[in-house]
Amino acid sequence: MDACDVLIVGAGPAGSSCAWKLRDSGLTTVILDRHSFPRDKVCGGWITPPVIGELEIDLAEYSRNRVLQPICGFRTSRMGGREIETGYDQPISYGIRRCEFDDFLLKRCGAPIYEGMALGSLEQSGDRWLINGQFKTRVVVGAGGHFCPVARLRGANARREIAVAAQEIEFEMTERQSKECSIQGETPELYFCPDMKGYGWCVRKKNFLNVGLGRLDPRELPRYVAGLIDFLKRTRKVAFTIPWKMLGHSYLLYGYAERNVAGDGILLIGDAAGLAYSQSGEGIRPAIESGLLAAKAILAVGAKNKIELSDRYLGSLQERFGTSQAEWISSIGRHLPTWLLRSASRFLMVNPWFSRRVLLERWFLHRDEAALTF
Ligand SMILES: Cc1cc2nc3c(=O)[nH]c(=O)nc-3n(C[C@H](O)[C@H](O)[C@H](O)COP(=O)(O)OP(=O)(O)OC[C@H]3O[C@@H](n4cnc5c(N)ncnc54)[C@H](O)[C@@H]3O)c2cc1C
Repeated sequence: MDACDVLIVGAGPAGSSCAWKLRDSGLTTVILDRHSFPRDKVCGGWITPPVIGELEIDLAEYSRNRVLQPICGFRTSRMGGREIETGYDQPISYGIRRCEFDDFLLKRCGAPIYEGMALGSLEQSGDRWLINGQFKTRVVVGAGGHFCPVARLRGANARREIAVAAQEIEFEMTERQSKECSIQGETPELYFCPDMKGYGWCVRKKNFLNVGLGRLDPRELPRYVAGLIDFLKRTRKVAFTIPWKMLGHSYLLYGYAERNVAGDGILLIGDAAGLAYSQSGEGIRPAIESGLLAAKAILAVGAKNKIELSDRYLGSLQERFGTSQAEWISSIGRHLPTWLLRSASRFLMVNPWFSRRVLLERWFLHRDEAALTF
């Protein structure tokens, strides 16, 4: 039997950030994941600068053997409508490949890693948790993504929740394909669905192309994805046939999620807690920040006092992300009829002020929220 203070289930950005923050703390931390790394993850793969600062990532070191695409603007439109290009004089985001980024974070987190090991069982044993009959721990951190088994044991039912459903493909372009693709690495493109219930994207990261679409309405997803592929080809943005089948995944947006995030020595972080930003679907930053906040709560309270630990973590989540209510604009949007959203989007999406100040800086880049500091 292995004993530890903290056991983290899931080694994505949430889990590895939590372990990284706990390194050198004197607490024994173990991290397990059902996959072996590097593993891929269905994702557009862009991150915002606070992530770099919060995790103290040295960009020069990172980019030595990995893809790092600085992004200095976005081209946005209502799919098929007039496009607005919004530029900045410095990087406002970076394109990364999840297979590389997640592996990088995991390898430097400092905790023993059990790869290829899924959570099989989680049982209470006195004041500890017994995991897979092998590990005894005081605190369990559930970081297993949307379908996290720890969240499930705390009552989450992913099938009944309102989630974003998304499909994505990332591949390396051949030299010919590269010439037949007009998307610029520094300026990814976002194509909003007319009813504003989702958007498609085309992001070029050096020689890799990532194409996808996410919607809050899973039934219509295949139709919109087919429309996006057709649109990209028709406009010769991607003039070749996109090669393979897309991969699908779903996840919760903050404000739509009602998960039981903390209690009994269990803390949920990242997608397991349902923290992705409600307008953009960006989930990497909230995953990392919640991992850091969980670690901070553990460091402040210790692994023994479970009630104080839950209170401390829940308080810090609320302080950071607000109460579990979607922003007013998306809350209103949920109740407006589709015809009204369609007309509003036609007008708003061609307005350069709206595209820069609201769509990009507020909803996508969260520029008003400084990086977490400890
Ligand atoms: C199509 C799509 C595009 C997206 N694009 C972006 C984007 O461009 N930018 C952005 O910020 N966010 C994006 N997101 C959201 C982002 O991918 C997630 O919010 C983020 O990955 C959450 O990180 P996490 O660590 O919580 O979970 P994950 O990254 O999902 O990691 C969970 C880990 O848990 C492991 N695990 C699962 N079950 C078990 C088990 N039973 N036992 C052990 N381990 C287990 C998994 O193997 C995995 O490694 C996108 C999501 C989708 C679906």
